[in-house]
Amino acid sequence: MVQWAVGSSVPFFPRSGGHSEWSTIGEDGIIIDLSKCHGIDIDAAGRKATLRGSILSKQVAVALADAGFFTALENGNTVGAIPYFLGGGASLTTLITGFGSDQILSARMIDATGNIIEVTDEKQPDLLWAIRGAGQFFGLVTELTIKICPLSDLGNDQGVIWVGNFVFPLERADEVAHTMKLLMNDGSKATAGLMMIMAPPPTRKPAVVIAARFTGRPKRSGGRVQAPNASDGREAMAAKGDFKRFGVVGLRRFDVGRFLQTVDIWKRLQSECPDAINTAFNFQWDSRPPRVPDFDSSMSLHDIRYWQNNLIWHTDASSRQRVDELNDECIATMRGSDRSEYADFQNGTRTGPIELRFRGEGKLEKLKSLKKQWDPQGVVTKQLLD
Ligand SMILES: Cc1cc2nc3c(=O)[nH]c(=O)nc-3n(C[C@H](O)[C@H](O)[C@H](O)COP(=O)(O)OP(=O)(O)OC[C@H]3O[C@@H](n4cnc5c(N)ncnc54)[C@H](O)[C@@H]3O)c2cc1C
Repeated sequence: MVQWAVGSSVPFFPRSGGHSEWSTIGEDGIIIDLSKCHGIDIDAAGRKATLRGSILSKQVAVALADAGFFTALENGNTVGAIPYFLGGGASLTTLITGFGSDQILSARMIDATGNIIEVTDEKQPDLLWAIRGAGQFFGLVTELTIKICPLSDLGNDQGVIWVGNFVFPLERADEVAHTMKLLMNDGSKATAGLMMIMAPPPTRKPAVVIAARFTGRPKRSGGRVQAPNASDGREAMAAKGDFKRFGVVGLRRFDVGRFLQTVDIWKRLQSECPDAINTAFNFQWDSRPPRVPDFDSSMSLHDIRYWQNNLIWHTDASSRQRVDELNDECIATMRGSDRSEYADFQNGTRTGPIELRFRGEGKLEKLKSLKKQWDPQGVVTKQLLD
């Protein structure tokens, strides 16, 4: 299919879970839908698993848990696991495992000319370096082999993560934010989660909702969830329909004053666009930095443990521009103007200065030169060519 598309000069996009804004194309191109092809092989002794085609995140999590393992997986059960890993992959277990791309061991990829390439450390070390974070820009990955961890690495015998939701009236945002700042900065406990400005059903009263997670062995008992079910509470946000997108920026610190300004922006959004009632402005934290792998790669977010991760959700097409403007205002408020204080995430952003997505000396230059080598015509996106 890729050879035919390249030979006929027909543009194409691979599609796995189909959640992104980048797996659609106009009438002059084709979508290579991988949903008829998916699978997973687990090598327990070798502590690795090979994912095929469009296997979804939840399918990976369940298969691994059945075999006594887990890996760095994310918030969206129906997201394609392969594009998630290739694009960096912020995970529920980043502080134990590192990012999704840190788990990649090797890949089988169809390149821009239609040839099958074995991307291993021995055969293609530079390409392996590139697909660990920028893998959606080099070819169609049919198989990805990743590292897996025994469930006991979650710090308890049952393979569970502790979760809890705490709801406060929005009027208490100031007090909640000051308290959360202490907790989010306390690396002695492995906490993570989201602080959400939203109007949760059924009452729809504006609230600050803390959706917290804890990995380890808590002194007191709390809500427990088996690792593969940890994202089930967010199924509604992954359901297709209406107008949804993420507004994401990686941050180096939590600023209470800026957070309180975003409360006002969210209130303005609700009064101007009532159809955006499901929109949540979310501040996401990990109390400890991501685990850093013992190899270098194109992924450059290991200095980030805070995110503004807005879920934009509205139902009226005519609200699009205003909702986007207010989301942009929220992101700009949280990140400030000092470029060293924030970073963009390749799994959520494809616009703006690309050096905010691939930071670190020489990284962007190396990626651009590899792109020229593997896909000079921009068959697999024009990213890294401009
Ligand atoms: C509900 C939800 C929660 C999310 N949570 C997280 C999170 O916690 N952490 C995180 O990092 N991200 C998260 N994301 C973002 C998500 O990981 C990325 O948007 C991902 O790329 C989407 O994959 P997809 O299969 O659903 O989309 P698709 O639109 O199918 O694919 C995404 C991109 O990858 C390309 N692609 C698809 N398959 C392949 C392939 N086999 N080889 C090469 N390129 C391919 C597509 O052309 C497209 O450009 C979340 C997204 C949603 C919708």
